[in-house]
Order: sequence, then C-alpha cells, then structure tokens
Amino acid sequence: MPKLIDSVADIYPHSRGLQDAGKRVGFVPTMGALHDGHLSLVREAFEQCDHVVVSIFVNPKQFGADEDLDRYPRTLADDTIKLSNLPHPERITLYAPTLEEMYPKNYATSIQVSGLTEAMCGKSRPNFFGGIVTVVTKLLLQVQPHVVFFGEKDYQQLKIVQRLAKDLNLPVDVVGCPIRREDDGLAMSSRNQYLTTQERALAPILNQTLIEMSDHIRNGMDVLSTLEAGRDALTLSGFNEIDYLDYRDGESLASLSHYRPHGRLLVGAYLGKTRLLDNIEV
Ligand code: AMP
Repeated sequence: MPKLIDSVADIYPHSRGLQDAGKRVGFVPTMGALHDGHLSLVREAFEQCDHVVVSIFVNPKQFGADEDLDRYPRTLADDTIKLSNLPHPERITLYAPTLEEMYPKNYATSIQVSGLTEAMCGKSRPNFFGGIVTVVTKLLLQVQPHVVFFGEKDYQQLKIVQRLAKDLNLPVDVVGCPIRREDDGLAMSSRNQYLTTQERALAPILNQTLIEMSDHIRNGMDVLSTLEAGRDALTLSGFNEIDYLDYRDGESLASLSHYRPHGRLLVGAYLGKTRLLDNIEV
C-alpha cells in the first residue's frame, strides 16, 4: 500500500526525509479518479525518480460557478487500490490534503500567469488557469520535489506550469508526458465517465478529426480553411459546442497561419454536457 498523508504539515518533512536519504523525489499532481493516463505519469516518474508523491485534490478554485465541481468523481479508495497495484507501491506516497487545510477561511492569495492563460481554455473559463497556477504553486511548495510530471493531454496547462516554474525560479523540472488514449483514440480523462453510451461512441471523432486536419496541414492545405472544415466536421458529427479548435506553436502557443514544425492542433469541445480536450503535434 502507498503511504497516505492527508495533512499539509506532514508532507514536507516526509519529502525532505526521503531527499535527505538520497532519494530523487518525483511528483504527480492530480484531481483523482485515476485512470491509465494518470498512471502513465507515475510510471514515467519512476523512470526518473526513486520515490513518487501522487497528490489527489479536487481544486475548487479552478471550477467556474456553473461547472462540475460537485459531481466531479471522488474515488479515493479505488485510486489507492490502483496505486497499490503498480510495481513498488512502497515507493509511492499518496498525498490527499483536505479542503480546509488547503484553503482555510482567511485564504487570500492567488498567482497569475499572463499571456499563455488568456486563449483557448482560459477564454471560456476565466478563473480556470488562475486556480490551477495557484494550487500547483502551493502543492510544489508543500512537496518540494525534484521533478513534477504533467500530461500533454492538458497541453496549455503544461506550458503555463513550465512558464510559472521558469518565471518564479522554482527549483523543479517540469516534465511533459504523452497523452494516453483508449484503443479507439479517445484521450483518457476522468470526465469520460460522464459520457452516455451514445456520446462515448461519438467521442473518438475528436481525435480522428485532428489526425485528418494534421494530414491536410502537413500536405500544404490552407490552415484557416482546414480549421473551418474541422469545426464543421465536429458539429456535423454531434459535438454541440466547439469551444476552440486552433493551430498554434507548441511552445509559445501563438496562433499559426501556415505549417510550422512543432505546430499543434488543440481542441476543446462539448459532447452533450461533457467538455472534452485533445491535441496533437502536426
Ligand atoms: P487531472 O486529474 O485531470 O487534473 O490530471 C492530472 C494530470 O494527469 C495532468 O497532468 C493531466 O494532464 C494528466 N493526464 C490526464 N489525462 C491524461 C492522459 N490521457 N494522458 C496523459 N496524461 C493525462
């Protein structure tokens, strides 16, 4: 069984103790409802580190008023079993701090990263990245790992956290890990369990559309008309709202109007009430 720590006061002494014993400590922050995407981050962390801290904290500050905070899946017992079934569970610490300790009544501080946070997910969800950056800063200060692992599934988030670490000189390496997908191409996500059977059958179209668009852009087709065709294809397939479908530079996230090496297609779209994200390098 992984060791469970649920108190902010206890996590740093634990992490410090491991580091004093010569261990390289990796950190995988999550909101729980663990799936193979999360577990692939833990596996990658074990490639690079001796001990892995996995945090589970559903962070209210990154949810908007009308979003799914209340129904977000909370499955700590199942998550613990999934971590126990990995090789070397004794080298995993599960850190699940309480809401009261993370945000006590007089809590007043937030951290902002400008620029990168304004487009795509940040445009439709104004508090989203502020909430993420604040909780990630808190968690990094609490755990003080050598390396922190984030999924490319949330590509904009990864680039923002890398910016945060660089700008604040945080002494941590921020490592991005590839997206884990179901056999039909759907990116794994804790929110996939919201999908009805019919929606689940349609969901892989998101990834298929990105792959087709990527082929078109690589073959020299006009970027704007490819984006427009992609939006139309998703709408026709049953996606009810395309939040964004963009072609952007993989580092700066600046919009691109022509093919460029390391460009990326990124999408956020609703299938029914469920918001799905995906992205691929072109
Ligand atoms: P979440 O619990 O959704 O906040 O995700 C926690 C971490 O797992 C983030 O760094 C995500 O990018 C990463 N993650 C979520 N889904 C996947 C996936 N399908 N493949 C790789 N990483 C993922």
